[in-house]
Parts: sequence; structure tokens; C-alpha cells
Amino acid sequence: MGKEAHIHVIKLPRKIVIGKGVSKQIPQYFKDLELGKNVLLITGPNLIKLYGKEIIQILENGGFNVDYLITKGTNINYLKDLLSRVQNEKYDVIVGFGGGKSIDTAKYIATSLGRPFVSVPTAASHDGIASPFASIKGLERPTSIKVEGPVAIIADTEIIAKAPYRLLASGVGDLIAKFTAVLDWRLAHKLKNEYYGDYAASLALLSAKHVINYASIIRRGTEESVRVVMEALISSGIAMHIAGSSRPASGSEHLFSHALDIVAPKPALHGEQCGVGTIMMAYLHGKNWRKIRKTLREVGAPTTAKELGIDDYYIIKALTIAHKIRPERYTILGESGLTWEAAENLARKTGVID
Ligand SMILES: [Zn+2]
Repeated sequence: MGKEAHIHVIKLPRKIVIGKGVSKQIPQYFKDLELGKNVLLITGPNLIKLYGKEIIQILENGGFNVDYLITKGTNINYLKDLLSRVQNEKYDVIVGFGGGKSIDTAKYIATSLGRPFVSVPTAASHDGIASPFASIKGLERPTSIKVEGPVAIIADTEIIAKAPYRLLASGVGDLIAKFTAVLDWRLAHKLKNEYYGDYAASLALLSAKHVINYASIIRRGTEESVRVVMEALISSGIAMHIAGSSRPASGSEHLFSHALDIVAPKPALHGEQCGVGTIMMAYLHGKNWRKIRKTLREVGAPTTAKELGIDDYYIIKALTIAHKIRPERYTILGESGLTWEAAENLARKTGVID
């Protein structure tokens, strides 16, 4: 074990609530957690109209003072601008209400202000819902940065079940990615003596196995489906808290997705790209990639370049540059990555391109 393993501090959410209509109980949860009266709610331009006003009303009726902020993205300069607008206000708690952008913006603002962050997801599309990492754009590298994780997660399955099904299928892609993420982590431990935590790895793997076992239930797109995916996403987020890094949740398949975000003219959803990446990285690891593909097909997630809406060229290009995205994160791609021919063969053999 590396030196860093001797002192290991783990911070976890204090309350996780998943269920139908739980957003109506937010005031009670906030009182239980003694979070304070002054709330800043961060949400998206559509969500404010759909549910935001109602959530604000619920909080105000519960005796809270609420301001809200609409976020349109997570570019660092944009976030700094948002931050300057709220810097001098005395908020007790920052709520991220929405998808990835709202939650990442809230994490950034909460961490910058040194205030607790509460995660209220409206889609089950990625494991940032519970993790202590945020994807911020416009930084040197397109990977995630360490932030404060949520003090509470309130997942209203009634709201989340109304989100487009594509988002739920994308969540499955982000979860199945834990298979290759953990394989890469073990490899880095063996070859580079990197710290490896078996408990965090097992927890992340469990969330991937969960969606494989429940694929047919997920496909129905019901509130039960949402609960299955949401529980797995939260477990994966917790695995990152326990590991103290995104290692258990993010390996070569995530590097491939980050690379696509850079090279593809119109990238697909994060989880969709990670799912396709997992098929190919499982092949490189000599594992059962067909089982990964079968699950993704079963839930209706993309398994090919065509289904991602990305030209074959960019798939190959992304495979060849993925190892450069985050050089300190050792994976099956090694230090020199794949040649163009090897990348093309890989994509072809796994049916990602024809
Ligand atoms: Zn991810």
C-alpha cells in the first residue's frame, strides 16, 4: 500500500432519500439536518418552469428563504461569473436541482462558498449525483475536479421517471463502466503500485452488476426502473467517497468518452459514450465484452458509432488519444495508447463500427 493509504478520511452524505414524491418533504429533511434557513437553489432554464417554482414554494411554505440561480453550463469562466453574483450573500445551503449541469454548478458554488451542498437530481443519467467530483469545462483537462460531495441526496422517483428514457439508459452506460474502471484500477495497482481499495472497488462493481441483473426492469422505464438505476448511481458515488478518488468509477472507458468530447463535432451523452467505451475496453482486458453489449442493448443504450450519432473516424481518433487525457491515470491503454490500426481493429471486432 502507498503512504496515502495510512490516513484515509472518508466523508459521506448524511441523508439519502429515494422515493415517490419525496421532494415535497424537502423542508422536513432540511430541518432534520439543521442546515439553516437561507437556501440558494441552482437549476436549469427548463426545470425552473417545470418544477423549480414549485420546489421554491414548498421550501418557502416550510419557512425557508430561497433565492434561485439558473445555470446554462459548467464552463469555468461562466461559473466564476455566477459565483461573483452570489459571493456576498449569506446562504446556509446550496441545492443543485436538475441534471449534470445544475448539480455540477451547485457543487462548484457550494465548494467555493464553503457551504453544504444538497443534490436533488431530476434524471438518473450519471453518478455525479452522489460523488465528490464535478465536470468543469474550460480547464486544462476535460476530466473532473474534486469538490465537496453532497450532505444529502433527495431523489424523487416521480420526477425522475418523467425525464426522457434516453437519460436513464445513459445512466446504465455510466454504471456498466465500473467493470472496466475497476479492472484498470487493479492493473494500475499491480503495475504502478497505486493505492487500491478493495471495498470501494467491490461497491463500484456491485452497482454495475446491479444494472445487468435488472436490465429488463430498467427497460420498462417506470418508477421502479428509476429506483434501480438511482440506487446504483448513488452506490457508485459513495464508492468514490470511500476511495477518495474517481478510480473505482472511471477508467479507460471514461478516457475514451472524454476524448470523444474533444474530437467529435457532436458528442453523445456521457453515459452513452462510456457504455460503448466499456464494450471496447472489456475486449482489451480479455473480458466478456459481449455481456456488456447485451445489457446495453437490452436497456436500449447505444452500442455502435451509428447509434451514438458519431462518425467512425472520431471513434478511432478518440481511441488513439484517450491515453493522453489523463496520463497519471494508468489503464489498459498503457503509456503509448493504441495505434490507428489497433484502434480500428478494436472498434470493428466489437461491432462499434462496421
Ligand atoms: Zn461517469
